Amino acid sequence: MLPDPLRTELAAVPGLRLLTQPEELERFSRDAYDYSPVLQKRLAHCRAELVVRPETVEAVVRVAAACRRHAVPLTLRGSGTGNYGQSVPLESGVVMLMTQLRAVRSIDQATGVAVVESGCLLKDLNRELSGFGRQLRLMPSTWRSATIGGFIAGGSGGIGSVRWGFLRDPGHLLGLEVVTIDEDPRVLQLDASDAEALNHAYGTNGIITALRLATAISVDWQEVVVDCPDWRTAVDLARRCSSAAIDLHLCTVLEAAVVEMLPSWDLPRRSADRLLLLVAPDAVSTVQRLASDLGAELTHLGAEAARHGSGLRELSWNHTTLHLRQRDPEWTYLQMLLPQPEMHCLDMLKRSWGDDLLWHLEGVRQQGVQRIAALPLVRWRGEEALEQLMQQCRDLGALIFNPHVLTVEGGGLGVVDADQVATKHRYDPAGLLNPGKLGGFSN
Ligand SMILES: Cc1cc2nc3c(=O)[nH]c(=O)nc-3n(C[C@H](O)[C@H](O)[C@H](O)COP(=O)(O)OP(=O)(O)OC[C@H]3O[C@@H](n4cnc5c(N)ncnc54)[C@H](O)[C@@H]3O)c2cc1C
Repeated sequence: MLPDPLRTELAAVPGLRLLTQPEELERFSRDAYDYSPVLQKRLAHCRAELVVRPETVEAVVRVAAACRRHAVPLTLRGSGTGNYGQSVPLESGVVMLMTQLRAVRSIDQATGVAVVESGCLLKDLNRELSGFGRQLRLMPSTWRSATIGGFIAGGSGGIGSVRWGFLRDPGHLLGLEVVTIDEDPRVLQLDASDAEALNHAYGTNGIITALRLATAISVDWQEVVVDCPDWRTAVDLARRCSSAAIDLHLCTVLEAAVVEMLPSWDLPRRSADRLLLLVAPDAVSTVQRLASDLGAELTHLGAEAARHGSGLRELSWNHTTLHLRQRDPEWTYLQMLLPQPEMHCLDMLKRSWGDDLLWHLEGVRQQGVQRIAALPLVRWRGEEALEQLMQQCRDLGALIFNPHVLTVEGGGLGVVDADQVATKHRYDPAGLLNPGKLGGFSN
């Protein structure tokens, strides 16, 4: 039970709204974990006892101090679009919505470096950047609804990863403003090195109030669809495009069965293994040439900016899974980095799992090398079948990033990051921030 003195104390904090209605507690205790039947079962009962929404950094400090004094768990939440229950309060307590801290504090005209508050939506930040001839390097397919703080703390990459790699690669996150939840909560300014430990730590080791980020020069991305004669050609063309001397922002590969189940919008109506590409204007003719060499058919849809809300990026990354689940919620998914060459692994898995496994691939850059990641759609056949499938993927050389687990480590490489844990001991020694999510921490 939440101590009454804590409620009273929080009710007196200027710039802090308390949300107490049962439907608010329910709504802000969930995220998009329902993509995983495993997590659905584990998290359905989790509820916050109180939800708070600060409007100032000072109010964040007061919440941290009050939760610390009363030893109450505090779970941070941006827009709650995470897929692994990242913002679900496992041990109840207080959920803090960061969405009112949303100012873009500065954008450097010369370097494009942005300083932005953590609750700013990626779409709003991107719009501000466009006034400076800049854009975000990386964004999730939830870029319209997700916050920048939630993306850094809970996301990994997405649109742009084919060129810019992943969020934890050095160079994206240049610094953080953080509130601690130790004896006497403070506001700290961390440089890029110290900020790394909070990058993808699920808000377990510090409350991010502002971020310093590198950005890219704006490109007028062109939408291109390429329909291929067969699956092998589609994978081959994706490899050729992502290693060509062209500016590429998205390289999604979908097997025909997936294409048939996606919204058709105004895309060409063909049943074919398909590439969805975002490329620079000067790259369209090169993609056309590469496609023709392989007997594939290209459709140039024009500039992305002209198509609001139904662009190719809304069919990519986990939006592919979203659309299939809207048709049939029995679909779930996996995430993996494929071994090179990829075809043997793709063929073997298809042979074993047939129509229960549909291929969705994304071109990515991993540690400086062009690779192919897979987010296959998987028909739910129970936990045992899922474990068998993941084991077979590993045996074939794929690196699994399991979206059916709760901890930072479980969803990553399975190893404890000592810097993340040391930072938690320093900034949250009582273990109050998002308890249960950092596997390497015990107090
Ligand atoms: C359809 C769909 C598609 C998706 N596509 C992608 C994708 O392409 N790439 C990708 O990486 N993810 C993807 N995701 C997951 C998710 O949408 C993104 O990671 C998104 O950026 C999370 O932002 P959010 O504001 O919703 O964060 P939330 O879900 O609210 O929070 C995520 C984590 O960050 C922590 N957190 C939030 N704010 C703070 C803060 N201020 N300080 C410290 N910790 C904080 C939370 O405690 C939680 O652990 C997708 C999800 C869905 C449902």
